[in-house]
Amino acid sequence: MANKSCIFCTIIKDPNNLIFEDVNTAAFMDINPVANGHILVIPKKHFANFIETPPKLACEVTMIVHKIANLLIKTIPEIKGFNILTNNGSEAFQEVFHYHVHIIPKYIREKGFLINRTKENVTIDNIINLKKILKSQLM
Ligand code: 5GP
Ligand code: ZN
Repeated sequence: MANKSCIFCTIIKDPNNLIFEDVNTAAFMDINPVANGHILVIPKKHFANFIETPPKLACEVTMIVHKIANLLIKTIPEIKGFNILTNNGSEAFQEVFHYHVHIIPKYIREKGFLINRTKENVTIDNIINLKKILKSQLM
């Protein structure tokens, strides 16, 4: 189901915009690339973010991310690695609210996508308590 006000729903209507599509997914070049080869992979159906996307569809998106990242390695031998990520929610810097995975090639550590790992104050008690709670729900 397309969302009329969504730029990605509009983009995928025209196959000329795409580098790949199948029944449920599409991929296209990021218009404002962080590095050469920055590609976005999305489900065709509109879901606001990763959490909202049905898990099986998110898996289909991941399969295409894997395929395209491998193709980039073959196509651009200078690629040394990738940052493969999704921003979920405005607090996490999401700007377009149609689930997408960024494939961002990494050529040099100091350039392109950079991670600022400022640490919040999480105590060891906090870690142990949360571990217990989550494990009791998951196993
Ligand atoms: P977010 O911050 O939501 O994870 O990232 C949104 C991404 O979408 C950004 O990297 C931005 O450059 C890209 N983007 C935004 N508008 C357009 C557009 O109209 N066309 C394409 N190809 N990419 C877009
Ligand atoms: Zn959309």
